[in-house]
Amino acid sequence: MITLLRSLNSIFLLATILSFNSHAESGVPTCPAEFEVLERHPGNGSQYGFVKKTLDDLYCTNSFEGKYFKIVYSTEGEAIPFSYANKEVLKKAANVYYHLSRARNYWIKEIKSQYVSELPQTIVRIDITNGYSSTRHFKHAEQEKNENNAWSVPNGQTPENVTEKEKWGKEIWFSPMRKIESKKFMKDSKGQNPIHQSLLLVNDPIIEYNKNALIYQALSFLIVPDITNTALLNLALQRVGTIAVIMSLTEGSKYIDGWFVKKYYYVDTAMIPEIIYHEFSHIAMSDTMKPVHSIPVIEGMADYFAALIAERRDMYEAIKEFSSNKTKKTDNKSLYHPYLEGQWNATSDFTLSLLWKGKTEFERINRERWKKGQQAVGNYDNLVFDAHFLLNESSNISTDLAKSLINVCHKKCLGSRMGIDTLHNVFEKKGLN
Ligand SMILES: [Zn+2]
Repeated sequence: MITLLRSLNSIFLLATILSFNSHAESGVPTCPAEFEVLERHPGNGSQYGFVKKTLDDLYCTNSFEGKYFKIVYSTEGEAIPFSYANKEVLKKAANVYYHLSRARNYWIKEIKSQYVSELPQTIVRIDITNGYSSTRHFKHAEQEKNENNAWSVPNGQTPENVTEKEKWGKEIWFSPMRKIESKKFMKDSKGQNPIHQSLLLVNDPIIEYNKNALIYQALSFLIVPDITNTALLNLALQRVGTIAVIMSLTEGSKYIDGWFVKKYYYVDTAMIPEIIYHEFSHIAMSDTMKPVHSIPVIEGMADYFAALIAERRDMYEAIKEFSSNKTKKTDNKSLYHPYLEGQWNATSDFTLSLLWKGKTEFERINRERWKKGQQAVGNYDNLVFDAHFLLNESSNISTDLAKSLINVCHKKCLGSRMGIDTLHNVFEKKGLN
């Protein structure tokens, strides 16, 4: 026992010395700590395990505060200490800290984002139910209650004339999980955050329903004729009504059973790695795309980088204990329709699949060129990243996103003609003309 303690002590000392050395430039010592975090099974995304990982860059305060992230409980100001009584909160704090660090590393090492490397410490709130107020930071609890969601908020401050002045930087908020019966959720859907709706999929498109949905419905029936007369569709119409069915059709037939198989809707956003990567990606692109509302382009861009960080082709798959979420697929086959531009489709995976199609096409062409000893046409991930400089939080898919990719390729692709032709092919294959 003593020997063990002694060797633990010397390990601790060694770790501290190493940290002192490695962070000599900032002058503030850091103390790495080990915690268990959630990792998905590489092959089967609904399977997972808790894996011991080192949390780096933590200050030596025995709390979840480090150089780049500070994890706090709800609206509080101090970091959650390692001695916090609620073990569930500790689990989420460690998970969020680890996956945010991983996302940050990716943005710096792989994407080489100068902006991310210069970001000040980001405050991360877990189990927060308040809504965001651009003038008060937090809305009063009785005004709004958020659950099963996550979002990024822009920096802001209270107006000049108020007595209690407050200033805040960019933050990431994770609200708690609550199991809600799907049918009920669809009927009286509320609590959507006006600032930034998350990527959650049974979110509120139903109340945003408008006549365009009918057009898209017709289109969907044409694209996926195999489902028009199935027993499943009839059952769907009886059980949840026409509007819900229309909405579930917006992405084609493959989701339709999801509405009935899952009786409950819930997601513990702080436990799902890709949701954490998605939120950090919003912060990483907030130099041009402010996280003030969510529409398909800003969400699809965040999904794209989340997929790269997670190294996954399917995203946000349900995990029995933590989430009943609908999966987003990078290879979603759905075609473009103006209906998809609406805010009600911010949670769709169309933009993700459009961007991903470009990736697979560029990689195919690059491979062929390498075989012939030729240089790559371009690094597609860099093109997508550079495109974000030409976009903002209101950009749409058909003109803004498509044009900015082409403009970036015009400057950066080797033999821009081939790169631009490839992009045009991708757009056509996804129904953009
Ligand atoms: Zn988002």
